[in-house]
Amino acid sequence: MNRPIRTTCPYCGVGCGVLAAVAADGTTEIRGDSEHPANFGRLCSKGAALGETLGHSERLLHPEVRGKACDWNTALDAVANGFARAIREHGPDSVAFYVSGQLLTEDYYVANKLMKGFIGSANIDTNSRLCMSSSVAGHQRAFGSDTVPGNYQDLELATLIVLIGSNTAWCHPVIYQRIRAAKEKNPDLKIVVIDPRQTATSEIADLHLPVKPGSDALLFNGLLAYLHDRGDSNTHFVDAFTEGMQPALDAAHACAPSTAAVASGCGLREQDVTRFYLWFSVNEKTVSVYSQGINQTSSGTDKVNAIINCHLLTGRIGRPGMGPFSVTGQPNAMGGREVGGLANQLAAHMNFDAGNVDRVRRFWNSSNVAQRPGLKAVDLFRAVGEGKIKALWIMATNPAVSLPDADRVREALAQCEFVVVSDCVRATDTTAYAHVLLPASAWGEKNGTVTNSERRISRQRAFLEPAGEARPDWWIVSEVARRMGYAQAFDYHSPADIFREHAALSGFENDGKRDFDLGALATLADAEYEGFSPIQWPVPRDRPQGTPRMFADGRFYTENHKARFVAVTPRGPFNEKDDEYPLALNTGRVRDHWHTLTRTGLSPRLSGHIVEPFAEIHPQDARQHGIKDGTLVSLATRWGEMLARARVTETQRPGSVFAPIHWNDQYARRARADALVNPATDPVSGQPEFKHTPVNVTPYQAA
Ligand code: SF4
Repeated sequence: MNRPIRTTCPYCGVGCGVLAAVAADGTTEIRGDSEHPANFGRLCSKGAALGETLGHSERLLHPEVRGKACDWNTALDAVANGFARAIREHGPDSVAFYVSGQLLTEDYYVANKLMKGFIGSANIDTNSRLCMSSSVAGHQRAFGSDTVPGNYQDLELATLIVLIGSNTAWCHPVIYQRIRAAKEKNPDLKIVVIDPRQTATSEIADLHLPVKPGSDALLFNGLLAYLHDRGDSNTHFVDAFTEGMQPALDAAHACAPSTAAVASGCGLREQDVTRFYLWFSVNEKTVSVYSQGINQTSSGTDKVNAIINCHLLTGRIGRPGMGPFSVTGQPNAMGGREVGGLANQLAAHMNFDAGNVDRVRRFWNSSNVAQRPGLKAVDLFRAVGEGKIKALWIMATNPAVSLPDADRVREALAQCEFVVVSDCVRATDTTAYAHVLLPASAWGEKNGTVTNSERRISRQRAFLEPAGEARPDWWIVSEVARRMGYAQAFDYHSPADIFREHAALSGFENDGKRDFDLGALATLADAEYEGFSPIQWPVPRDRPQGTPRMFADGRFYTENHKARFVAVTPRGPFNEKDDEYPLALNTGRVRDHWHTLTRTGLSPRLSGHIVEPFAEIHPQDARQHGIKDGTLVSLATRWGEMLARARVTETQRPGSVFAPIHWNDQYARRARADALVNPATDPVSGQPEFKHTPVNVTPYQAA
């Protein structure tokens, strides 16, 4: 391989290390980095095909204002003036940023600092809201901080792995490869897959529990009661390090008086529920991995806490081979959380209490720091539609396809006074609504850091020249900030400058009070930043080697340092099925595509895996609705409609339909699944309910 550059895959939260080398003919060779602790050389189909997606044919190459190419100064002036005018005339809360887990931490930090630190509004939210904000909220309720306790190695040390709402084989393939390898090495390792669908992941399951959609909290409340009643509580841990067990147990017993009641409520066989509970009871080394199937529901936060409750009761947290484990969808969902990229976080894992606002005000030397949380994604776009947001900047994401009720999002964008989009792609469904387009550097062209699902910070490094006039996101935001009058605070010359400031803020007046602390990295020299090796935060001054596991000492980040049980009363979906819409639509991903196809759609190899949108339906429902395998069907909900190819399959649970989220107007007409999704959200986290929208499916009749 020709002089490889060490970098990180831009697709998912596994955060695999990649070696990239540009050959003499301009093609890029990609290999897994055998030294990266996330993947030890492995890659999945998407990561392995990265070299096929780096062409310039779809790139946004030059700035544009109102459809005309222009120079950077003209475009940046237009953005600064547009935002300044809206703030002057309507106040700081009349503007918003909608950002992305595709941004690097340094980009994210600068965008958050501009909005929350200098514009003085917290209206910056991220598409990570759509993938893991319920886990964030669940962590904060239980631990007092948004902390993932363990790491990937725990999967290899466990004797029981429970995969909940996670098609790991397709959505986090290298984690799946690690689990499969662990199973081959240790045939006694038990794997339980909890998912309404029979997926590729179920193939390695010793037990698959096809739960009724939405019944996960009941299943884990039943487990909590079972463990307690069997005497499996770790009383020392519970007494010394937790609080709130009794109300949580009371709530669990109230809804789950017996295993039979749980089985009935979850639509499962009682012997399967009993077997799962028994395995959980006898395997101390248990890791519970959860993902979008838990998070993307209107009670996702409660479900997360129902899972964590079982680990608190048994004291299975912070030690090798055990713990609750949220895996994130996006490459830098975790990095965005670190800088405060969610509208309800201020910065560096600090919330909006008066002490934090004052601390951040002093650190940033700004008198205009936001005092309260801003609008979360669904509410933010609702406010755009209501005319309350006058100027909106969308960075590196495609909300016209990916948000729920996406047709209303399009209407909102169409009537917004000033829309800016910075992206590396010229023609997304969202760029069509932009008044100003700013060409951003793509993967392979930019430098910075990302954090994966196990809190591991890794470098992304450039190995290609920027396409056209593309510039890094941090530079674009800093230039706009400078034009808005904040030159001194945004005088950055490199991502290393920003990383040092980010690390310093995390360690500022911290002294172990907050989980997120990179104090030991605040003085990295440029050369050290360049040679940065993957490391797991926190990295406080007295622990420069990082922290593989958290909470081993039983000390949490609540006020009294005790972890909190949360009493969970299971709730059904926000919108129930009815006679008009008798099935439940569940949306998700396929193995070889990423988000809205803007990158993976460029690879013929990846596109060849599944070539068109489809809808999976159980044979029993297909018969009832007159659907034949392989025919075109129309899916309709109260929010939108789409066409797809029917796949009649027994892997689908009766009463439900699965459709992938990826296709959009660039690739197929009337094929956007998220246009059908109800905009109901979890009341705690604001995460939308992508996993349950009442739907009707009928044979397609051409007009
Ligand atoms: Fe990239 Fe995720 Fe595949 Fe790893 S598992 S190569 S991070 S897409």
